[in-house]
Amino acid sequence: MTGAARGIGAAVAARLAADGNAVAVLDLDEAACADTVEAIREAGGSAVAVGADVTDAESVATAVERVAAQLGAPTILVNNAGILRDNLLFRMSEDDWDAVLTVHLRGAFLMSRAVQAHQVEAGWGRIVNLSSTSALGSRGQANYSAAKAGMQGLTKTLAIELGRFGVTANAIAPGVIETEMTGAVADRLGVTREEFFTEAAKDVPVGRVGTPADIANAASFFCSEAAGYVSGQVLYVAGGPRA
Ligand code: NAP
Repeated sequence: MTGAARGIGAAVAARLAADGNAVAVLDLDEAACADTVEAIREAGGSAVAVGADVTDAESVATAVERVAAQLGAPTILVNNAGILRDNLLFRMSEDDWDAVLTVHLRGAFLMSRAVQAHQVEAGWGRIVNLSSTSALGSRGQANYSAAKAGMQGLTKTLAIELGRFGVTANAIAPGVIETEMTGAVADRLGVTREEFFTEAAKDVPVGRVGTPADIANAASFFCSEAAGYVSGQVLYVAGGPRA
């Protein structure tokens, strides 16, 4: 479970642990994973903290080996680590483009390549990739929308290549979810987080913004035994067809 120190990743990690899985809580800073690990253990689950940079092949290889040694072969992978570097196209730097594409796409590629070896050997696996409604186009997010559309293409290809080994791959495309990532957008825009989320909720058919638990519910389904005939799909979890 990548990017699991906080936000959506922490909620999905807790849910997968409650479903009976031993969970590797992976994030850039191992110490930052402590709260997520502690919460899972307090609830009676099993978890370990793993510090790794998903953009670095060596770091990924070391992390996946460590997970296999400590928890057993990883057969479920959730590619959730992500960053934002928003700007209108004419102001977007090459570094901002590269950083976003690298964390989301190269990160998911490296993690999937490392974990599929274990999944193929086990003859069973689940991959869940975090896309976004931004994949459909989003002002100020040329880099992020390209990365999140890319996650959907990656997901479908993983489904096609790995299906014969009992591995499914699906994507979740959240709308606005209340986390540090979206809270920081409010800070940048100079409005309070409460104002930002209240305003965002007005555009959502069900009348509220999402919570990390909304995404954890979808991830739990995709990772379940019951979802074995569902693969290559993109599920928009956005309170409507498009948030
Ligand atoms: P978040 O609170 O910012 O959490 C993302 C986590 O990923 C952070 O702990 C971050 O660590 C970690 N991370 C960043 N770069 C990494 C790297 N190279 N290696 C390992 N970990 C890394 O974000 P969130 O809102 O929970 O979002 C989680 C995912 O859902 C992202 O992929 C995001 O794009 C997607 N999503 C979110 C929303 C939303 O409304 N929140 C909507 C659609 C999609 P640091 O803090 O150390 O950087």
